[in-house]
Amino acid sequence: MKSGEKLVLGIEGTAWNLSAAVVSMKGVIAEAESTYTPPSGGIHPREAAQHHSANIGEVLDRVFNTASSEGVLPEDLSAVAFSQGPGLGPCLRTVATSARALSLTLGIPLIGVNHCVAHIEVGRWNCGMRDPVVLYVSGANSQVIAYRRGRYRVFGETLDISIGNALDKFARYVGLQHPGGPKVEKLAEPAEEYVPLPYVVKGMDFSFSGLATAARDAFDAGAPLGNVCRSFQETAFSMLVEVGERALAHCGKSEMLLVGGVAANRRLNEMLSLMCEDRGARFDTPEDRFVRDNGAMIAITGLIMLENGITTPVEASAVNPNYRTDEVEVTWID
Ligand code: AMP
Ligand code: MG
Repeated sequence: MKSGEKLVLGIEGTAWNLSAAVVSMKGVIAEAESTYTPPSGGIHPREAAQHHSANIGEVLDRVFNTASSEGVLPEDLSAVAFSQGPGLGPCLRTVATSARALSLTLGIPLIGVNHCVAHIEVGRWNCGMRDPVVLYVSGANSQVIAYRRGRYRVFGETLDISIGNALDKFARYVGLQHPGGPKVEKLAEPAEEYVPLPYVVKGMDFSFSGLATAARDAFDAGAPLGNVCRSFQETAFSMLVEVGERALAHCGKSEMLLVGGVAANRRLNEMLSLMCEDRGARFDTPEDRFVRDNGAMIAITGLIMLENGITTPVEASAVNPNYRTDEVEVTWID
């Protein structure tokens, strides 16, 4: 082993992506992943879990091999972190079982990490932010989050489905393959006409289900697909920007961090950076590899928790498919 810095192995497997990484606070030392792609339709929890259990041995082999070529051996690790939730139960259980086995075999602490908090922490780490308002937009979640008195508080969230799920559902309906978000983005780019779609913000919450249905109806009524895609993005992203801006204003914060798979969308980036520019706030989003679900985000968060004395006894390591962002005690910000 090199310096005396702490090294953590993180394993992510809440849904489609099974991924493991070894990190130090300086960066990623090794990383390996295996992606489950549904043959058709959306993700089936049991099939995704079968993919994870069939591939986890090979993914761990690869990450350990790369780590050892970087001079890091399994016995150099300080802890094993894993995605404890939220996510698909069968997938979570597969990953947790492997993490427990590794922790016991190597005789190092286990750390259960909240997947949403991990998106935030890897973003803060990669973008060098201290205390941002976070817009977390993914296949399963859409939340506006900010730190306040020991927790990441959810200031606003979707009342029904996530923005990623809404995009994927609409895309599937019009015959595009999963994941739909990038395909909708591509079709939207050259389109110019706006098809009116429902804009739903209630207080600090938003809703995408009616929007997805209205977009389907517009497509069925003959509106060109590109126009519907563009209108879908403009409407949904405006809702997110409105609530994000209100959170910035009310929390008196000056940084805005965009995380989750939908953060790859260029138009959403453009809209948020315009809003932040107007307010004199800093806007940023992590590199692509840290934006989508990845092992490094679990490892980095595990490392931060470890340095703050937080580990998870095996008895308390049961997975929690509904683990909420604001259930985690955050002791590392103040
Ligand atoms: P995650 O759940 O964080 O892994 O993110 C997956 C979600 O991100 C899926 O719903 C994708 O459709 C969505 N997504 C990925 N790339 C883009 C993009 N460029 N624009 C919009 N959505 C995207
Ligand atoms: Mg995610």
